[in-house]
Amino acid sequence: MPGFEIFGNEERKEVEDVLDTGTLFRYGFDQARKGHWKAKTFEAELAKRIGADYCYLCSSGTSALSIALASCGVGAGDEVIVPPFTFIATIEAVLNAGCVPVFAEIDETLCLDPEAVKAVITPRTKAVLPVHMCGAMARINEIKDICDKKGLVLIEDACQAIGASLDGRYLGTFGQMSCFSFDPVKTITCGEGGAVVTNNKDLYATACAYADHGHDHTGNDRGLEGHLILGANFRISELNAAVGLAQLRKLDSILEKQRSHKKAIKEALVETGSTKISFRKILDEKGDSATFLSFFLPDKSVARKVAKDFGLAGVDSCFYWYDNNWHYVRQWDHLKKLKSAAKLPIKLFEQTPDYKKIDLPQSDQIISRTISMLIKLSWTEEELARRIEKIAGIISAL
Ligand SMILES: *Cc1c(COP(=O)(O)O)cnc(C)c1O
Repeated sequence: MPGFEIFGNEERKEVEDVLDTGTLFRYGFDQARKGHWKAKTFEAELAKRIGADYCYLCSSGTSALSIALASCGVGAGDEVIVPPFTFIATIEAVLNAGCVPVFAEIDETLCLDPEAVKAVITPRTKAVLPVHMCGAMARINEIKDICDKKGLVLIEDACQAIGASLDGRYLGTFGQMSCFSFDPVKTITCGEGGAVVTNNKDLYATACAYADHGHDHTGNDRGLEGHLILGANFRISELNAAVGLAQLRKLDSILEKQRSHKKAIKEALVETGSTKISFRKILDEKGDSATFLSFFLPDKSVARKVAKDFGLAGVDSCFYWYDNNWHYVRQWDHLKKLKSAAKLPIKLFEQTPDYKKIDLPQSDQIISRTISMLIKLSWTEEELARRIEKIAGIISAL
């Protein structure tokens, strides 16, 4: 991760196809586009790659979440169970849909703890939105069981987990709908882009319509198309889809490289014999997309020290999420104050939750001990060896 590290002629060629035709729109212009359908081709290839029946490529991971929530009928006043460790986009999509995010604890998978999910279900709960954080799987089978039993919608946020799988089944194929992101720092990128996938034909049809002002996409002439519903514009352009198509075709080699880099680092850390370090619980090591190596230190102060020592030693791309205001709820002050440019429906509800009082001791306990290291594609063997030497040295000295 990320795919931009390996940009090359493949991306250029796909983009040139589009520029040559001058057709930047993903629909229609059948003659002018000379057979180039980049968004459509991407959708077919991604669906096939992960074993889903349908895929709709859209403008971002955040719009994918909005499309999925709307298509699954999750909206005004509904409670949606979310993890406190994610990118804020997950929460923004829920709030902007008029829903109430309800936080449940994570466990050592760094994803939602199924028992904690059960504990926060209320009569208003409509959906569970687990996030497969940092490239590996949530306890998705257990979460799916809970949703099935309670009649809840399951939407997976697989924005960081393309190509990851659990026991041979790809992440993004467990929920009614699932979301991917192809923003500039994800495993593969469109520049900006996202996707919803589903096995449900009706949900797919709703998603396609909702993402494009309700158009039914049946005819060549847009002027004659019907409008099934009111919607939005979450469309992707052919230029972005073209970049993504070249990137998608590199996914296998990206995963292979990440897995081999991660394995080398992890093995070196295990070989230090240090009892101070333990690793994120990964339910299926083979299915890990290996975008990150995450590990636990004994406590907050050791974790802070290690993060600092890594920085001083020039070991870059390491994240101590507990002190980082991007991915963990602790420092989401804008959320705690529900500060938005939009007048959020949640503020009008009879019982607006007070997010300042959010209390997730189990998640705090875990995230305060966690460091994640981004696994890059562009490391040379020599850079990897030097990195391993430095981090093994720092961990051995604890
Ligand atoms: C990146 C990301 C998103 C949002 O994707 P964008 O394409 O940047 O809108 C949502 N959820 C998670 C977990 C992400 O990492």
